[in-house]
Amino acid sequence: MTEGKVAIIQNKQKSSFAAKKKLISLLKEAHYTIDQNDPDIVISIGGDGTFLSAFHEFEHKLDHIRFLGVHTGHLGFYTDWRDFELEELVSNLSNKEEPTISYPLLDVQVKYKKQSEPKRFLAINEATIKRATRTMVADVYIKDELFERFRGDGLSVSTPTGSTAYNKSVGGAVLHPRINAFQLAEIASLNNRVFRTLGSPIIISDSEWLTIRLEESSDYVVTIDRSTIKHDEIESISFKIANERIHFASYRHMHFWRRVKDAFIGEV
Ligand code: NAP
Repeated sequence: MTEGKVAIIQNKQKSSFAAKKKLISLLKEAHYTIDQNDPDIVISIGGDGTFLSAFHEFEHKLDHIRFLGVHTGHLGFYTDWRDFELEELVSNLSNKEEPTISYPLLDVQVKYKKQSEPKRFLAINEATIKRATRTMVADVYIKDELFERFRGDGLSVSTPTGSTAYNKSVGGAVLHPRINAFQLAEIASLNNRVFRTLGSPIIISDSEWLTIRLEESSDYVVTIDRSTIKHDEIESISFKIANERIHFASYRHMHFWRRVKDAFIGEV
């Protein structure tokens, strides 16, 4: 009788391979099976970036998979465990009373000029749209109503858990991940007497949706977390909170703001 099927995704660091070896042996002792194709639990070993890869590898099975992240360096935002805590991690995993937690994801629909059906993506951190060479001009609609005409480098749309990643670097707010909402942040907007945008990040509720309509349809780069979509014929991109959520296993409660302080401020 198996306790559950576990897939392990690790980065290329030596310490991650060592942690993986130890984890496999502990999991087998605790009667778990290693199954890279059809797991109930996915464990990433590396950093938050590795966790993003693990998420996308299994994003089509979110309804029955629980995720867990082990960090081989400092603590991360998706990685609750450190590589020297593997015994405790495995014993926590077997404790069925452990609380689980889930967080919102971003539903991204890219509409191409020559295709009637939009293509759908899921983001756990963010999606960005940027113009590679010239000023990006785009109309921003909230619930199909024109909100502003944006001119600048690009726009970032992030989840609450992604708010501490790229979003933060472009001046977005850090959002507590229990807030079921998403955020639009500008990337170097042009603001003067002629061109005007709100100029500050906005938080959009889970009952609303956002559409970015591009003025011209060439030369845009769209990113979804770690991936880049290059396509000349993008007409618009729509965003909303996804119906799917990411579920975590062996969740260890850490005060979110303490984690933010740890990551960005340190001792005061
Ligand atoms: P990556 O190496 O996987 O990640 C870049 C950095 O972002 C790493 O230090 C990573 O932490 C950290 N990170 C990832 N998700 C985070 C989160 N939710 N909160 C706080 N930090 C987080 O780079 P990549 O493959 O190019 O892109 C992956 C992600 O990196 C993107 O989704 C984007 O958010 C972020 N990124 C940020 C910038 C920026 O801030 N200017 C630029 C490019 C990309 P670990 O070291 O723990 O992996």
